[in-house]
Amino acid sequence: MLKLLNIKLTIAIDGPAGAGKSSAAKLLAQKLGYTYVDTGLMYRVIAWAAVTKAIIPDNKSIIDTLFSEFKIEFQAEGVSFKVLAQAENITHKLRTPDVSRYASLYSGLPAVRDYLLGLQRKMGQSGGVIMEGRDIGTVIFPEADCKFFLDADTKERALRRHQELKAKDNPTKLTDTIRDIQKRDAQDSRRKLAPLKKAADAIVIDSTNLTLEQVVDMMLSHIDRVT
Ligand code: C5P
Repeated sequence: MLKLLNIKLTIAIDGPAGAGKSSAAKLLAQKLGYTYVDTGLMYRVIAWAAVTKAIIPDNKSIIDTLFSEFKIEFQAEGVSFKVLAQAENITHKLRTPDVSRYASLYSGLPAVRDYLLGLQRKMGQSGGVIMEGRDIGTVIFPEADCKFFLDADTKERALRRHQELKAKDNPTKLTDTIRDIQKRDAQDSRRKLAPLKKAADAIVIDSTNLTLEQVVDMMLSHIDRVT
């Protein structure tokens, strides 16, 4: 119905690692005919490039250089996008536990956040977008039409991440995944700049005992109510 009405809303989804944000955002984008923007992938590509070059991305010109040396491009792929480095699709390389750790570590740097703030606002400026991350409803689009904070039990989130990594031939021990997720959550919510937190006006959805379809249905009924 929203699609037929051609309303171009800005929808923010925030939450901790493994809460199901990407899957929900992607399905919601498909249902509404919107663009899905995974902001975590942007932190991940900076971390990947910085680690590859063994440097710390703590100023804008370093990040500019990384983007130009690696010829980083975000290219549309269905409702989503893929990341290219020197024309190679490296999206799958960005989801490893190592890249997750560095992404979280470097995401606290002011230069990294500043750089991505501009890029993300530009990507979402025309609306018709579901943007997912940690600070979308609080910092990137505080005026978003709809804000969701997706959460789930730590064990459930770790289990999902563990299964995801296994399916991508990247097996890990469940105990390591639980530890990594807890560490990343703590780091993401305790940092000074744009910490992970629920926007005051965000709708909280606990996905622990819900299917993906149920989560997206809850989101759709809320979106319907506010439009
Ligand atoms: O969402 P994803 O797990 O891909 O994010 C990787 C890391 O990037 C997070 O742990 C967090 O440190 C950082 N991030 C962020 N702000 C966002 C999205 C991701 O700080 N909006």
